[in-house]
Amino acid sequence: MQNIDEKQLREIVHRVVKDLDANAVSCNSTNHYGVFDSMDEAINASEKAQRTYMLCSMADREKYINALRETILDPANMEKMSRDAVAETGMGKYEYKLIKNRLAATKSPGPESLATEAFSGDGGLTLVEYCPFGVIGAITPATNPTETIICNSIGMLSGGNSVIFSPHPRAKKLSAWFVTILNQALVAAGAPDNLIATVREPSVETTNEMMSHPKVRMLVATGGPGIVKLVMSSGKKAIGAGAGNPPVVVDKTADIKKAAIDIVNGCAFDNNLPCIAEKEVVAVDSIADCLIQHMQENGAYLIKDATQIQALWDLVSNEKGGPAVNFVGKSATYILEKAGISIAASAQEPKVIIMETNADHPFVREEMMMPILPIVRARDVDTAIDLALEFENGNRHTAIMHSTDVDKLTKMAKLLQTTIFVKNAPSYAGIGVGGEGHATFTIAGPTGEGLTCAKSFCRMRRCVMSEALHIR
Ligand code: NAD
Repeated sequence: MQNIDEKQLREIVHRVVKDLDANAVSCNSTNHYGVFDSMDEAINASEKAQRTYMLCSMADREKYINALRETILDPANMEKMSRDAVAETGMGKYEYKLIKNRLAATKSPGPESLATEAFSGDGGLTLVEYCPFGVIGAITPATNPTETIICNSIGMLSGGNSVIFSPHPRAKKLSAWFVTILNQALVAAGAPDNLIATVREPSVETTNEMMSHPKVRMLVATGGPGIVKLVMSSGKKAIGAGAGNPPVVVDKTADIKKAAIDIVNGCAFDNNLPCIAEKEVVAVDSIADCLIQHMQENGAYLIKDATQIQALWDLVSNEKGGPAVNFVGKSATYILEKAGISIAASAQEPKVIIMETNADHPFVREEMMMPILPIVRARDVDTAIDLALEFENGNRHTAIMHSTDVDKLTKMAKLLQTTIFVKNAPSYAGIGVGGEGHATFTIAGPTGEGLTCAKSFCRMRRCVMSEALHIR
C-alpha cells in the first residue's frame, strides 16, 4: 500500500469532516434554509436568526461571508443559477449571467470594509461603528434575480443584518432554490439558519406585508419607479435603486472606432437588461456617419427604413407606450426574426439593432431593456450634452461619454449628476467590469447611497468611554 504523508492525511480528515457536516445539514429536519410559506413566518425566523448573529464574532462573520462566496462560485451552482435565470424569466443570456453572478460574488465588499472611526483626547475615547439595522426587507428585480440576491446578501450580512427577499414572481423558483443553498452553506459554516429568507410564493401582497411589518427595520428596493416610490413612502429607512435610461454622447474628439465597439458591447450586455446599459446615443453630426459605420462593422444591424422602424416599435412596445414584456431582454436576432427582418446567412450575428431617430422618438425616451439603440444627431457637443440631460430624464442613474475633451467630459458629468458616469468605456466599466471599484446590482440613485455595499446597510452608532482609554 502507498504511504501517505501528514499533509495528505490532514486533507483526508478535512474532507471526511466536511462531508459529515454536509450530511448533518441535510439531515436536520428542523432547518428551513430560509424558505417559508408565509411572510410572517419568514420575518419571525429572520429576526430570531439576526439576534443570534449579532452576538457572533467578526471572524465568524468573515467566515460566513466566505462560505457564501464559495457556494455561489461553485461551478455547478454558477451554471445552474445562470441557466435557470434565463429559463425562468425568459430574459437575458447565459454567458452574461455567468459574468454578472461571478462579478457580484467576487467584488461585493465584505465586513472588512466597515472601518471604525475613533476620536481620542482628554475627554476619553469615542468609537463610531457601522452597526446592523436588524431585519432588512429586500425587493429584487426579474432582470438581475440572482445577481441582486448575491450583492444584497453579502452586503447586508456583512453589516450584521439578516435579510428577507421579496423576489419578482417571474424568478420565484430560482430565488427559493438560491436562498436554500445559501442557507445550507451558512449553516454548514456554523451560522444560524434563516439569515437569508424568502417566501415560496412571492406576490404584491407578501411584499406589502413585508414592507409594513414592524420587525422589518429597513427596506431596499431594486426595480422600477413604482416599487421605489412605495418603499420611500413606507415610513421606514429605505434605499431605492430605480430605473435608468442611460444616454451615450460621442463627440468629434473621441476614438470613434473604440467608441463604436464599446457602445455595441455595453448595449448588448445581457441583452440590454442592466439598468446601466446604453439606451440611446447622441452623436455629434460630423462623426455620426463614421460612428454608425464602425458600429455596423462591430455587431450592429442598421435599420434605415422609417416604416420598418415604426413596425419594430409597434412590435416591441405595449399599449402604455413602454416595453412589451415578451421582448424585454431578448436578443437582437430574436427581435429581428419576430419583426420579419431577415439577415443574410453569411452575415455576422447582430448584437444590437441601431437606427437614426429624432429626439422625441419613444425608443429614445423609454427605458426598453432590449438591444435596440436609437441614434440622435446633434450639431455640436454642447447640444449633444443638453439632449443627453433631457433623455436621462432626471433619473440621475448612469451616463456615458466618449471624448478626449476634458472640459466637455467634466461639463457632462456635472450637468447630468448621474450616480455613474463612464468615460471612454462600455457602461459596465461603471460596475467593475473593466473598471476600478466594487460591484453591485443595487445602484441607489434616488436615495443617494450610490453603488450600495455593506456600509449602505448599516446604522452609524457612537460608543463613548469618558476620560479613559486614550493613550497619547
Ligand atoms: P419591477 O419594478 O417590475 O419589479 C421590481 C420588483 O418590485 C419585483 O420584485 C416586483 O415584484 C416588485 N414590485 C413592483 N411593483 C410592485 C408593487 N406595486 N407592489 C409590490 N411589489 C412590486 O422591475 P423589473 O422589471 O423586475 O426590473 C427592471 C426595472 O428595475 C428597470 O426599471 C430597471 O432599470 C430597474 N433596475 C434598477 C436597478 C438599480 O440598481 N438601480 C437594478 C436593476 C433593475
